[in-house]
Amino acid sequence: MTYITHLECSLCGEIYDFNHINNLCKKCSKPLLVKYDLKKLREYKPSKVFEPVRSMWRYKKLMPVLKEENIVSLGEGLTPLIHAKRLGENLGLPNLYIKDESLNPTGSFKARGLSCAISKAKELGIKEVSIPSAGNAGGATSAYSAKTGIRAHIYMPKDVPEPFIFECKTTGADARLIDGIISDCGREAKKDSEKYGWFDLSTLKEPYRLEGKKTMGFELAEQLEWHLPDVIIYPTGGGTGLIGMWKAFKEMEELGWIKGKLPRMVTVQSSGCAPIVRAFERGEEFAETWKNAQTIAAGLRVPSAVGDFLMLRVLRESNGTAIAVSDEAILQAQRKICYFEGIFACPEGGATLAGLEELLKMGWVKPYEKIVLFNTATGLKYPMDF
Ligand SMILES: *Cc1c(COP(=O)(O)O)cnc(C)c1O
Ligand SMILES: [Zn+2]
Repeated sequence: MTYITHLECSLCGEIYDFNHINNLCKKCSKPLLVKYDLKKLREYKPSKVFEPVRSMWRYKKLMPVLKEENIVSLGEGLTPLIHAKRLGENLGLPNLYIKDESLNPTGSFKARGLSCAISKAKELGIKEVSIPSAGNAGGATSAYSAKTGIRAHIYMPKDVPEPFIFECKTTGADARLIDGIISDCGREAKKDSEKYGWFDLSTLKEPYRLEGKKTMGFELAEQLEWHLPDVIIYPTGGGTGLIGMWKAFKEMEELGWIKGKLPRMVTVQSSGCAPIVRAFERGEEFAETWKNAQTIAAGLRVPSAVGDFLMLRVLRESNGTAIAVSDEAILQAQRKICYFEGIFACPEGGATLAGLEELLKMGWVKPYEKIVLFNTATGLKYPMDF
């Protein structure tokens, strides 16, 4: 069912076998990417490649799981692409869309990555996993682990909103609260994983969460009948969504499915933690760690990311850009999405609109362009003060 061929290091090109358990490249410690036999698939139309399954596993030929019985699914993906007419009218943008990822199991797009990673972990015989999380990844890991009977150890900052803690505990995970932010959680998770032999599911430190996130790119193409939008605005933390979607676009381009140009990809971060924006502006290949990272958009509070150079490559290759917005602008934009579109957006989703408003002022986006914002999760699990 899958056309996977091998794993390849994103920096040095070293090849790895997908039948073994892999984390980062053993030579250069950078992320491994999954490769497929796209030449063999080229002769088929998308309708022959995609399967009649009502979840993101519709794209399983371009995903890494070998055996059907190892797929751990709660019905993730196939989220709506909503024409944001009222919001668009307010902004003078007739072609504004919102990809609403809040409809995923556990309420966020993290479900895609973790459905795929937990499936692959099951296939590789892994019994215990660990993950550092700002909340949504922890909830998703707990849910998919529960579904298949894997033991999950979740490391979250102690200021994580309570619904995430309840969710992890109720699904039977070992939820640990750490005095610090996600990078501190990552350090603790790594230490314990090495000590106890757990599999580390940290962002891009294993190759398969990316393959789940990638399906957002396939869906967009299908929903827009193979004409991708002009601009995609994405709230960027560890970068799996940005890197994953671009990977999907490149794969579809190689398969000959895409009509026209690829989108300009935009990273939005909070001005309280904007390492990728800073590195993009400075023209750097890698991003320096951000000190004293602070933002209410928890998913964006990522001071350093192992996939930094991959994000920067996507932004440059796509003629995109990176922009930082204040927390006040994020909150205001979050409410605006709720008010005009009835979508209870998360702060990270709000950030995409705040970024768009800036880009519009700068003239970087044109009123007639087709623009897609990503609402990456539901706002319902975050503290509210309306
Ligand atoms: C994790 C997260 C992000 C950042 O996602 P990446 O793809 O890792 O950059 C954005 N929004 C929400 C709600 C998140 O949970
Ligand atoms: Zn390498």
